[in-house]
Amino acid sequence: MLRQTLAIVVISAGLILTGYQPVSAGQWKTVKTKYINLHYQSESDLKKFDKKIKAVKNTGSFASFSSSGSTGGPHGRLAKKIDTLVEKVQLILDMRKAIKINVRIHHDKKALKEAYYKIYKKDKTLRAWYLFEYNTIYVNADDLFAGMLAHEIAHAIVDHFLDVRPPRATAEILARYVDGHLNEEAKTY
Ligand SMILES: [Zn+2]
Repeated sequence: MLRQTLAIVVISAGLILTGYQPVSAGQWKTVKTKYINLHYQSESDLKKFDKKIKAVKNTGSFASFSSSGSTGGPHGRLAKKIDTLVEKVQLILDMRKAIKINVRIHHDKKALKEAYYKIYKKDKTLRAWYLFEYNTIYVNADDLFAGMLAHEIAHAIVDHFLDVRPPRATAEILARYVDGHLNEEAKTY
């Protein structure tokens, strides 16, 4: 119990230091999948997220790398869909390595803008972004689609696959390639 309390204190301190604390009062909850820690504040946000992320077709050749580690339970289907998306991105990039990425689903555009300000201390309106330092993808439940999430997942994978992070322009080319080819059969050469 003491250990738990201590952990909470340490985490809270960390959240305050990194400016993670959301403006809205909603508590963050997490759905853990094989590759993603999906952080959300309300079931309705998670539902919207689920609705907007259309399932991608995984290829049979990727079966050895299946999402067997996905969580079951009420969010099992969503977890599997997200893991399949991650695997598709890995397949397109041909970058397969154990990964765990945080995805933070903000309530709406305004909340996402506020989150940006908290982190960077300046105003900017982005639809989504990936922050390497926190290993976190930021999105909002109102404005989202599978290609957008795949793009940010590609950034996370590209930034972690090589020993040295590739130049920003190179990473952007790769991420754009991924979202542009998400629903094609991956080339096998
Ligand atoms: Zn990008």
